[in-house]
Amino acid sequence: MDDLLQALEPREIWKYFLELSAIPRGSGHEAAAVRWVLEQARSLGCEASQDEAGNTLIRKPAAPGRETAAAVALQAHVDMVWEKNEGTAHQFLTDPIAVVRDGDLLRAEGTTLGADDGIGVAAALAVLASSEVRHGPLEVLITTGEEVGLAGARRLRPGILRARYLLNLDSGRAGFVTIGCSGGLDSSATRAVATGPAGAGLAAFRIKVSGLKGGHSGGDINQGRGNAIRILAQALWSLAPAFGLELADLAGGDKRNAIPREASARVFLDPAREGELRAALGALQEQLRASLGSFDPGAALALEPAADAGRSVLAQADARAVVAFLLTVAHGVVAHSPVLPGLVQTSSNLARVLTRPGAVEVLLSHRSSLAADKAAVADQVAALCALAGFQQQRGEGYPGWQPDPGSPLARRVSAVHEALFGRPMEYRATHGGLECGIIGQGHPGLEMVSFGPDMWDIHTPEERLSIPSTAAFWRLLGAVLEAL
Ligand SMILES: [Zn+2]
Repeated sequence: MDDLLQALEPREIWKYFLELSAIPRGSGHEAAAVRWVLEQARSLGCEASQDEAGNTLIRKPAAPGRETAAAVALQAHVDMVWEKNEGTAHQFLTDPIAVVRDGDLLRAEGTTLGADDGIGVAAALAVLASSEVRHGPLEVLITTGEEVGLAGARRLRPGILRARYLLNLDSGRAGFVTIGCSGGLDSSATRAVATGPAGAGLAAFRIKVSGLKGGHSGGDINQGRGNAIRILAQALWSLAPAFGLELADLAGGDKRNAIPREASARVFLDPAREGELRAALGALQEQLRASLGSFDPGAALALEPAADAGRSVLAQADARAVVAFLLTVAHGVVAHSPVLPGLVQTSSNLARVLTRPGAVEVLLSHRSSLAADKAAVADQVAALCALAGFQQQRGEGYPGWQPDPGSPLARRVSAVHEALFGRPMEYRATHGGLECGIIGQGHPGLEMVSFGPDMWDIHTPEERLSIPSTAAFWRLLGAVLEAL
């Protein structure tokens, strides 16, 4: 590790990054890293405190001559996603991340690197340690649990920051300044279903949808990919009456923030018509592939004999209502942003369906940078629930951050970038969540932007961080702090 550090510039940021990388800090296991952050702050003579969630707030007075400047907060999250390749011996709970250099890149040996957001934490601490950066009054906020539903930020005391500006250091694209993010709200919809025995002489089969790409419901919802649950509903809606299918159960999807890749239904069918149904599914698969094309070329619909799991089936009217609901409930892009071309402003993900004894449960996840738009999608789901006999429950949700391309802070950061590197920054917003949404809600009037160095494939063992763009990020951060 020491040899690696010798070869990296600027030393001050890499020193903290490599030290932090040696401390296990998966979401929910941050205690040691949180202690380390506090030790660093105190050893630099800064005032520091922690709340029950492990969020650390550190204050450092202005550099000489900058006492009257507006206060600035630097913010990053200390937790990281733990993912490793199969067969990697790494033990996340005890082992340091094995950081290796690959030319201009840093990566880890078979695991996530944790540059998301270890490099943001390192940069903030390096500013605290620096006697060269001529910053105004400074606050550093290091949160926990970002990767598990923004858990630390949610428990942050509103109004705790005194800063006028907040620089969130949790962005993975150099040359871009992030000025907005989406908020989220979950709906669950449950319907009681009556059951009875399957018709005499019918046999159990499984209709399976597979081969889809899926993806993240924030970043990939506008990629035109298929939703396995929707496709299954399409098949059941169009084929059940003609084939006299009786629905035993259905299931699909997994996580709220993942577009479902697989779904299946167990149905009872006259075995004499098995070949005919297989052909009909084949035709549907052809239509599907023509429709999805290169967005999702592997989409597949198959029919298999099902293991005997009892002969109970849903009452026909209930099955029909469930399938109708799944075929029509909000999924996909609802609205694009009127201010940032190409950005999705509002969307819904039909995330999961499962069958329990006597009930079918559906989970949906709605996103928008606007609270009212998010609520409007949940209302739409509520209306359909009323029509189709479902009960809706809404989650707590978390706020978004509506992008403002006229933001004076974003302009100043971009102007500093242009002065340093000869080109302005591009404005972007994410349809994913950022802590800025929650922090902004708790601090009305706080101006925020987010930026960081280039990294790729975060949350996977392929995660890589650009060394030169980290050096550029450090220069930019220092220059922005001097300019504000
Ligand atoms: Zn992050």
